Amino acid sequence: MDHHLSPEHEELRRTVEKFAHEIVAPKIGDFYERHEFPYEIVREMGRMGLFGLPFPEEYGGMGGDYMALGIALEELARVDSSVAITLEAGVSLGAMPIHLFGTEEQKRQWLPRLCSGEILGAFGLTEPEAGSDAGGTRTTAVRDEATGEWVINGTKCFITNSGTDITGLVTVTAVTGRTDDGKPLISSIIVPSGTPGFTVAAPYSKVGWNASDTRELHFDDVRVPGANLLGQEGRGFAQFLRILDEGRIAISALATGLAQGCVDESVKYAKERKAFGHHIGEYQAVQFKIADMEMKAHTARLSWRDAASRLVAGEPFKKEAALAKLYSSTVAVDNAREATQIHGGYGFMNEYPVARMWRDSKILEIGEGTSEVQRMLIARELGLTS
Ligand SMILES: Cc1cc2nc3c(=O)[nH]c(=O)nc-3n(C[C@H](O)[C@H](O)[C@H](O)COP(=O)(O)OP(=O)(O)OC[C@H]3O[C@@H](n4cnc5c(N)ncnc54)[C@H](O)[C@@H]3O)c2cc1C
Repeated sequence: MDHHLSPEHEELRRTVEKFAHEIVAPKIGDFYERHEFPYEIVREMGRMGLFGLPFPEEYGGMGGDYMALGIALEELARVDSSVAITLEAGVSLGAMPIHLFGTEEQKRQWLPRLCSGEILGAFGLTEPEAGSDAGGTRTTAVRDEATGEWVINGTKCFITNSGTDITGLVTVTAVTGRTDDGKPLISSIIVPSGTPGFTVAAPYSKVGWNASDTRELHFDDVRVPGANLLGQEGRGFAQFLRILDEGRIAISALATGLAQGCVDESVKYAKERKAFGHHIGEYQAVQFKIADMEMKAHTARLSWRDAASRLVAGEPFKKEAALAKLYSSTVAVDNAREATQIHGGYGFMNEYPVARMWRDSKILEIGEGTSEVQRMLIARELGLTS
């Protein structure tokens, strides 16, 4: 892997860095406090083409790749994770399944508006009784032989981007049949927002990511055309495993951004804050904390970029994506804890970005596969389990 960014990737990094500091940073704290989705910021991200970064130009994308998406996510999360997860879920979970598994017609119908940010897509996998063990999906989709429609019943929980004013669709996994030995056949089906019987609960009250949208979804005899099946019937399980493998790289880039943001804020504060007659950054105890934080952010960056470059090159990347996600989320939590400590009492005040980073870090060890699940994947790749 060449660890230098190409001129195009470096230009993208600078553009998103500037946007994050000039547009996101001054406004996002208020949205976060009000638990409000930042439509104006998301609209601007759409205008910049961020939602179309890894998609082909013929569908309205920017013709970039997963590396480009990771770079944008890292720079956004360096300043704020709510906008970063809105982008991550919109691209990796909302649009990518349609890009990877959709028919030509589905791509033409959905991708241009998803790429421009006019609409957001969501991915409904998790259920109240099936998270890590997503094969335990209970939502069902039964084909109505008379009309060819799918009739969907069930509940999904914790679904990002699923209830905003601009949410256009949710791709849900549902049991559509059984194998001869009784195992569930899971398929993915596109459900447009506003379909009768599809209801979206009020936003959750969350510990962090408070300017992002997360909801519980209910499907009560929801009817969608047979043509809304995404990919082959019964392949939904394999599809979401692929989506989650890629998504882990994106979450890892986001976690790296948070870890680096903690360094940025700590360096700034350590040069300003005085105690016992000196700036606290003059004390070796504080210097060593920040040096360790920088080491972790740097190593996390190498890790997600390694996984992304393997994905872009068409090489196997499953283990590297799990390693990157596990490592970067762990160090994001570490760095957020230390950055808060360096800020003293001010670190516990929500007006300081590190307080937001502290609250936003924990979910990184849970979403898109918990740290335990990453360890299971790594152990499997090492041949320890089947
Ligand atoms: C803010 C937020 C946004 C989210 N967005 C989405 C989304 O857009 N789409 C979506 O589908 N989901 C989404 N999720 C769901 C998320 O992916 C799940 O919460 C996560 O996968 C864990 O599932 P669970 O909550 O059911 O925990 P469980 O699976 O019940 O796990 C509970 C604990 O048990 C551990 N555990 C489980 N099995 C094992 C095992 N075999 N060995 C060892 N330990 C084990 C887990 O690691 C964890 O520590 C979101 C969640 C949150 C909080």
